[in-house]
Amino acid sequence: MKASKVVFLAVCGIFLLVQRGQSNEQWAKEEFPNPTINLEACGRRGKVSWICDPESILSYESANNIEELLYSVRKNTNSGCSKGENPGFQIGVAVLNRMRSNSDESVAKTAEKFAKHLHDSWGVGNAGCDDGAVLLVSTDDRQVYMSTGRGATKVLTDDQIDLIIEEMKPHLRHKNYDKSVEVAVTKMGEVFSGKVLESSLDYGLILFFLVIVTGVGLAIYLVHRRDEDIENCTLKLQRIQDERDRAKHSYETKSCPICLEEFEPETPTKLLACGHKYCEPCLTKWLQDHSTCPICRRSSDRHGDDGTSFQRPTTNDFIPELQFRLLMLRLQHPSLITSTMVDRWSSGRYNGDFVSDPTFVRLSMPGGGRLGSGTGFGGGGSFGGGGRGGSW
Ligand SMILES: [Zn+2]
Ligand SMILES: [Zn+2]
Repeated sequence: MKASKVVFLAVCGIFLLVQRGQSNEQWAKEEFPNPTINLEACGRRGKVSWICDPESILSYESANNIEELLYSVRKNTNSGCSKGENPGFQIGVAVLNRMRSNSDESVAKTAEKFAKHLHDSWGVGNAGCDDGAVLLVSTDDRQVYMSTGRGATKVLTDDQIDLIIEEMKPHLRHKNYDKSVEVAVTKMGEVFSGKVLESSLDYGLILFFLVIVTGVGLAIYLVHRRDEDIENCTLKLQRIQDERDRAKHSYETKSCPICLEEFEPETPTKLLACGHKYCEPCLTKWLQDHSTCPICRRSSDRHGDDGTSFQRPTTNDFIPELQFRLLMLRLQHPSLITSTMVDRWSSGRYNGDFVSDPTFVRLSMPGGGRLGSGTGFGGGGSFGGGGRGGSW
């Protein structure tokens, strides 16, 4: 008997909690209480207040602190309107769960109308100079709106409101409504005291453009690099092709198999006994670690100046040299020359052009190959946002 009573009470308790948590009530702006008149309805324990928080979304202590800030703003700022005891700007605060929505208008518009209605019906600010402002936060609607009177908007401009709302958003996202309202009222007070809030957005904008400019510069550089790469590779491939075609008649190379550069009259060259000819710097470098011809691996003992002091070369088959040259080109341009190309072109059965081979043409086109892809800008996207009202 006793146990069932406990269960019954527990169920009732949970039911009440759920009811409270859901809080389905939607406020029509006309029905929202005035904290200076409907003293019991605004969650301020019966005292006159400038804050109306009927659902106690703010903690009572925090609302007290915020209220002190509101009075301080009124007392310590000067709106130039009245010279009495309260010369300053007046701020009213409304916090609620949900506004009654009008189906044919956006929730942002509803928030704007709601805040302006409270501003007018509560009469925030001095009549005549309208030096008041109303802060509205509707939690389930995720809407914040600051309404400013004619006199207040000269100081608390729309741009300044945007900045304040941006500062509120992180707290709103964490459902820290105490903190978000406290931040808003503090910042509003600072602005009403004459402080101009600096936009951190401008720095973001500058950074954004710097990133864009750097990205574009890098892209241009890479495209340029790639163009140079392609040009250089094509030139050398054409040279290899010319060597191959010439070798069909006489084995007399005009460029170095290692660096693939043409022998200029001033270039010192070395002709090995096997018949393979190199520019001297390339061969010297090779022979530091080896003792055989790079192409045919025969002894490099007998070598001298180009064709003067020893017998004519005996090599007839150009294929090993062709393969070697293509491998060297692949080492220099791995993104343009594939091992498949090397194998096919040096097989001995291929007699076509290298340069106009479709596989090479495709890889050497702009956007083909590896270097051209994956160098996009990245990041970016929309930033900023907000407005005179704002959502989070
Ligand atoms: Zn060379
Ligand atoms: Zn050789």
